[in-house]
Amino acid sequence: MSTDNAGAGESGTMPRQPLPPAGGFTAEDIGRYDHVTRLPSRVQCLEQLAADLDGIAYSGRPRTLVLVTLAEAQHFNGILRALGHAFSEDFIRAGAQRVIECLDAGVTVYNVSVLSFAFVVDNDGRYPPEHTARSIATHFTDPVMVQDIPIQTAAGVGLVALDAGFTAPAEALRAALTAAQDSRSSHHPFSYYNPGSDAAQRRAFQLLTDLPEALEADDQFTLHFQPRVSFADRLSHSVEALIRWQHPRLGWISPAEFIPLVETTALIRPLTALVLETAIRRLSRWQDAGRDLGISVNVSPRNLTEPEFLGRLHGWLERYGVDPRRLELEFTEGAVSPDNARTLETLRQVRALGMTVAIDDFGSGYSNMAYLTRIPADVVKIDKSFVLDLDSGEQARFLVGKINNLAHGLGFRVVAEGIETATAYEFLEGIGCDEGQGFHLARPMPDDQLDAWLVR
Ligand code: C2E
Ligand code: MG
Ligand code: MG
Repeated sequence: MSTDNAGAGESGTMPRQPLPPAGGFTAEDIGRYDHVTRLPSRVQCLEQLAADLDGIAYSGRPRTLVLVTLAEAQHFNGILRALGHAFSEDFIRAGAQRVIECLDAGVTVYNVSVLSFAFVVDNDGRYPPEHTARSIATHFTDPVMVQDIPIQTAAGVGLVALDAGFTAPAEALRAALTAAQDSRSSHHPFSYYNPGSDAAQRRAFQLLTDLPEALEADDQFTLHFQPRVSFADRLSHSVEALIRWQHPRLGWISPAEFIPLVETTALIRPLTALVLETAIRRLSRWQDAGRDLGISVNVSPRNLTEPEFLGRLHGWLERYGVDPRRLELEFTEGAVSPDNARTLETLRQVRALGMTVAIDDFGSGYSNMAYLTRIPADVVKIDKSFVLDLDSGEQARFLVGKINNLAHGLGFRVVAEGIETATAYEFLEGIGCDEGQGFHLARPMPDDQLDAWLVR
């Protein structure tokens, strides 16, 4: 592999690539070349990386692996759905061409996955690797023209120094992909491999891998309950169920860490099902013990489009003989779009069954106040970020006052989350907020401690 690397679009001529022999692919070429771009595939890239890693160990001459991802998978799937396979393949070829145009003729570009291209450059070549990376990123700020249609794409460019102790070629390639993802998510033209964010990704992967077993085990997930206190009588009439995960090796994992991960996968179905059924069983026990207490459960927007969601919910309420009015479903503001007819219909049916619906973390998203007129719900929970600022911020007091008035005007009950001080409590009581929740009143706690708390 030649090692010279050049600035964007400077070469003018098409670089030569080790294309498969004239006359097309032979049986031996299968897997060694990509059939869409005809560029050498990941197989050949890994061979090259193995040789490079050996060479660096031997010569100490540092080289850098660069990986370019053309577009986010979701974006690409959108193109595929809207414009078809032939167009999508043209898009990939145009993207490959754009990468190639940024490089010297001698640099071999590998098509390492559907949307990713990789190549290796010498650190002491004509241009430093950062220069090449930046010029590719700049090149991709212009739309890619495909059949006269401009496609605006967000390329990610990742760099990995091959002298950083990698021994396995596949590891170096995976690190480059992580770096390219970092570059896209941070909106930087390119990113170097960062073992820190890689560790975070590995942990995320680990958590998702371990989740199915945790759902089966009966000692890993538990529900804690945080009381909501009514300002009118200073009593608690309902609690919020908050999931807790005791991982056998990693210890306590915060829902703030694992819920957003799980929400990207189908595992959110069994997880929410577990929480809902546990909460309903708990309600049934409380009901039998004559305890007048409701539970609010957090659900994900994805749950609201599950075909069996309502039927199952209804089934549990019947089976455990629970009054539906004791159950409330919360979802985060913004997570439910007022344009999603199916979700709105589910919410309407939830209410028709007698349950209530709460809009959680209101004010944390980008919805405007008209959102409240379009979502079928009963309760607005003001996001804790505003409530935490009540002690110090005039603006927060102004905003919380306005949200409270507006939500009341539209017929909602208003709950303030994140009450940590007596000052915040008194302010909220003063403006006529209905209920409050926060560490000042009570922390989330296991069921047995809740008993003692309620007695007090
Ligand atoms: P959330 O639904 O807004 O729940 C309130 C969060 O604020 C809880 O965090 C609670 O412990 C915390 N909190 C309560 N009072 C205070 C306070 O005074 N100050 C501060 N700083 N924080 C307070 P937690 O339990 O870590 O849960 C985080 C988020 O994870 C929840 O936010 C919810 O979005 C999600 N979550 C928790 N359990 C579940 C669940 O069973 N299913 C789903 N889908 N999401 C859940
Ligand atoms: Mg909540
Ligand atoms: Mg909340």
